[in-house]
Amino acid sequence: MNITVIGTGYVGLVAGACLAETGGQVVCADVDRRKIDGLKRNELPIFEPGLEALVARNQAQGRLTFTTDVGAAVASAEVVFIAVGTPPDEDGSADLTHVLEVAAVIGRHQSRELVVVTKSTVPVGTAARVHAAIATHAKLPFHVVSNPEFLKEGAAVDDFLKPDRVVLGVETDYARSVMAELYAPFVRTGKPIIFMDLPSAEMTKYAANAMLATRISFMNEIANLCEQLGANVDLVRKGIGSDSRIGPSFLFPGPGYGGSCFPKDVKALLRTSEEVGSPLRVLDAVEEANERQKRRLFALLRDVLGEGLRGATVALWGLAFKAQTDDMRESPALTLIEELLAAGAKVIAHDPAAMREAGRRLGPRIACAPSNYDALPGADALVVVTDWNEYRFPDFARIKRALARPIVIDGRNLYDPAKMRLLGFTYRSIGRGRE
Ligand code: NAD
Repeated sequence: MNITVIGTGYVGLVAGACLAETGGQVVCADVDRRKIDGLKRNELPIFEPGLEALVARNQAQGRLTFTTDVGAAVASAEVVFIAVGTPPDEDGSADLTHVLEVAAVIGRHQSRELVVVTKSTVPVGTAARVHAAIATHAKLPFHVVSNPEFLKEGAAVDDFLKPDRVVLGVETDYARSVMAELYAPFVRTGKPIIFMDLPSAEMTKYAANAMLATRISFMNEIANLCEQLGANVDLVRKGIGSDSRIGPSFLFPGPGYGGSCFPKDVKALLRTSEEVGSPLRVLDAVEEANERQKRRLFALLRDVLGEGLRGATVALWGLAFKAQTDDMRESPALTLIEELLAAGAKVIAHDPAAMREAGRRLGPRIACAPSNYDALPGADALVVVTDWNEYRFPDFARIKRALARPIVIDGRNLYDPAKMRLLGFTYRSIGRGRE
């Protein structure tokens, strides 16, 4: 099957590589020439486990090609995926400029009956707008499909190759059969393809992300309450997570959710709900709680250092919004860094994948260390922001020797409070009491 994926970011590149891996003939198109030139040399613009090998293999075997000529890529396709960004507009709604631009290009360049699949996260009603934008130019039949993507950055390849489910909003039998054929290799283990109407598919993506964000904010607020009441949120988490109605995932408290999806999708869904006069009060609170939580690590550090924060050096472990990615969009680390710099502290940070991105965003405002231990010498405190595996079992004696003061603020509850106390650290974490 000839497949074109327009937009070669996290979603488009992963989708393109995985569709090629299962035998599709895939063209990935993007307007970003530097990105495409790099990809032709197997240089990936993002860090995503397993992706580099997948791109290199499929490119070498001729099933995956890259181009900046979006029109030509459309002309050769039987199925076109739209995977461009939908960033938040000033009012929080999803900006559809790129999606609708691409739809017009598709209408102008299609050369046969075409299935057009929206993979970008777009508000309910967008399929109809995509349809209209294509129809303005189209001379041949086409079918619009909504196929929201549920991959997680850091596990994107695995999630795409082995999805929990595939959601497909379709309105014609032709689109249904083409999409069933295309996704068949990914659901061989019996995971469902769930067909539905277009608005329901579009809504499913927002409802899923809003639900996950709600769990995070809920647990963060429960953790903060545990702190006040002398309860331990780790035990509470296990206690509730073993209830089959609740389940154990997404119950870990931390420094607040970030990334390119939850913050923007929560905002966009809130905006949609306001527009149609059906307010989502729960989500208002979710967002507010998250904004508060992103300032939690700074508050814990200020409690310990007090006036000493001005002029202090703070070591940060973790810059990405979560482990296994270099993505710093809306990362809690950025909020913390801004607060620390405003308070007159210096920051020296380490991240296994996101330091190039940090350099691009922050330049010389912070220092970066080549290893996590190199961030420590002479620092007045260590703050753990991201739950990278390599931060889980560090050499505590080495940390203590290197720090000017034995202060550890653990934003991910990676360490055992009793052990940290025994080792002589002043230790704070999220919702597990004070040492
Ligand atoms: P991204 O910013 O990483 O990539 C978007 C790409 O689209 C960029 O390379 C950009 O150059 C390209 N582009 C923009 N306009 C274009 C045009 N007119 N023609 C061709 N290319 C164009 O974005 P992303 O993280 O891959 O997200 C894409 C969409 O998928 C968003 O709607 C997002 O909400 C959704 N999504 C993202 C994730 C995730 O984890 N990142 C997961 C699920 C869904």
